[in-house]
Amino acid sequence: MRKPFVAGNWKMNTDSRSSVELAKAVVAGSTGMAREKVHVAVIPPFVYLPVVVKAVSSSGVAVGAQDVYFESKGAFTGEISPAMLKDVGCTYVLCGHSERRHVIHESDELVGKKVTAAISGGLLPILCVGELLEERDAGKTNDVIARHLRTGLAGLSADKMSAVTIAYEPVWAIGTGRTATPQQAQEAHAFIRNLLAEMYEAKLAQEIRIQYGGSVKADNAKELMAQEDVDGLLVGGASLKADEFVRIIQAAM
Ligand code: PEP
Repeated sequence: MRKPFVAGNWKMNTDSRSSVELAKAVVAGSTGMAREKVHVAVIPPFVYLPVVVKAVSSSGVAVGAQDVYFESKGAFTGEISPAMLKDVGCTYVLCGHSERRHVIHESDELVGKKVTAAISGGLLPILCVGELLEERDAGKTNDVIARHLRTGLAGLSADKMSAVTIAYEPVWAIGTGRTATPQQAQEAHAFIRNLLAEMYEAKLAQEIRIQYGGSVKADNAKELMAQEDVDGLLVGGASLKADEFVRIIQAAM
């Protein structure tokens, strides 16, 4: 039985005051749901991690980071290590979000190193995979997903794989208001689960949670979650409004 997992990626938004207000509103709105019925995480910008961790403490809401570097320390100006994230109270970390792949130009290999380092550092990575619109139009959706999965999980043993959540995020649906249809999401999620079964084993593939992300809103969350292989939601824009995010959490249960 896969427990639903809803995470809110705040991207480069909020400030020290509004991040705390938003985190507290999510905690208040998800009391009795978060942890018991659904796993909930908020993913603020790096600099607000400590205040957000404090704001959600003793609640069922976990905190994640939007990125991580694969080295543990040293001369890597501007980077943040897994141990640093752990030290400030992070549980999860996004690896290979499409904005990092396509705006910052992170390579597939770099994303794979981040996933491995995150797990070694005691974090739970959320590996984001998904195709561009031109790749979908060219019939390459499954090829892109397979490449992202194979490189993102390169060298990861089955026991470590159980720490990973996969987020299927078609790039054309992120921040565009154009959500994948529930059928498109289910097709991609089923492809991911089958490929995980091939790469590892069927039992493990059945246990891995696969989130959908891309213009999720309170009014489309339920039908996406109704799909057999959709186990959760990675929410961007709509996670910045506490009421809407809480309604999405309710829809995911
Ligand atoms: C995201 O940032 O992962 C995302 C899915 O964004 P949005 O919900 O705004 O499309």
